[in-house]
Amino acid sequence: MDISITRVEKQGKRPEDSALGFGTIFTDHMFNMDYNPEKGWHNARIEPLHNFSISPATMTLHYGQTIFEGLKAYKTAKGEIQLFRPQENFKRLNSSARGLCIPEIDEAFALEALKELLKVEKEWIPETPGTSLYIRPTVFATDPFLGVRASHTYRYFVLLSPVGAYYAEGFNPVKILISKDHVRAVRGGVGEYKTAGNYAASLLASEKAKEEGYAQVLWLDGVEQKYIEEVGAMNIFFVINDELVTPMLNGSILPGITRNSVLQLGRKWGMKVSERKISIDELAQAHKDGSLTEAFGSGTAAVISPVGEIKYGDNIMHIGDGTPGKLAVKFNEAITNIQYGMAEDTENWIEKL
Ligand SMILES: *Cc1c(COP(=O)(O)O)cnc(C)c1O
Repeated sequence: MDISITRVEKQGKRPEDSALGFGTIFTDHMFNMDYNPEKGWHNARIEPLHNFSISPATMTLHYGQTIFEGLKAYKTAKGEIQLFRPQENFKRLNSSARGLCIPEIDEAFALEALKELLKVEKEWIPETPGTSLYIRPTVFATDPFLGVRASHTYRYFVLLSPVGAYYAEGFNPVKILISKDHVRAVRGGVGEYKTAGNYAASLLASEKAKEEGYAQVLWLDGVEQKYIEEVGAMNIFFVINDELVTPMLNGSILPGITRNSVLQLGRKWGMKVSERKISIDELAQAHKDGSLTEAFGSGTAAVISPVGEIKYGDNIMHIGDGTPGKLAVKFNEAITNIQYGMAEDTENWIEKL
């Protein structure tokens, strides 16, 4: 499929790297492509960023049939532009598509289209270490129809946003709250897909956690509310008796690419690594007897986010000494060094433009 390119007349100006936050500034161009049953995916185009004009009956607005991805483009000290395991994002986009009855997108084409878009927008990729260009591929249902069924037509778009260093204020441990009243996802549901409804479902618990002074919610499984699943937009890891433990994928946990990268590195480094069920009782016991030495989250936005406190009911568990754990630091450095081209890409994770 050909990709047509329409450029803006005058390029916008990227803010100073130090002024960048997250997700508020967008680049000059976007990628768009449409789907209908007759033509399949068609009309692939890079064009100036613009608002969409949609019917108030657009099915996405009513029934939430929409999926997305999140990845980043990094600029190395040599000025090269690189992506971190982008094939995995498009693979997961198609997994989400199958889960939400959305037609799949050719993964190789989606990557090629992204690279074309990045070539047009390369001036928008910030260069200070820690900054990057956040990439948001999204698919949404476009039929104007008020009945419940899968849409027949869709839009795929890619939006780009230069983002600041996640740890501008330092790599400090965060406090997370285990929700007893709410669950995020259930087995057989859509928890393993990156779909809007999962985030809508998480808001009330997140608001309550923030009111209590906690940065994020740590979710338990939706069936027994006994096993640990994940944090808002991050997967979770624990170090217990020198074993690196993360909950096994069970259908209601989002299969994070950072999670997978941490597991791969941990195994390579010869650590004892387990993907298994971990109950809140086991965690509380490990905290009590001192064998729980670290906890950290993993995700594209922060890479690694050390956790210094977990609250479950009346039990407030402090983990570590208020500074980031050794392994959190080690995984964070190893992964970001590869992303920014400061370490050899031993795992074959980098895709250069
Ligand atoms: C995106 C996401 C993650 C992390 O996935 P990465 O591929 O590592 O960025 C974890 N949990 C949820 C709910 C997510 O949406």
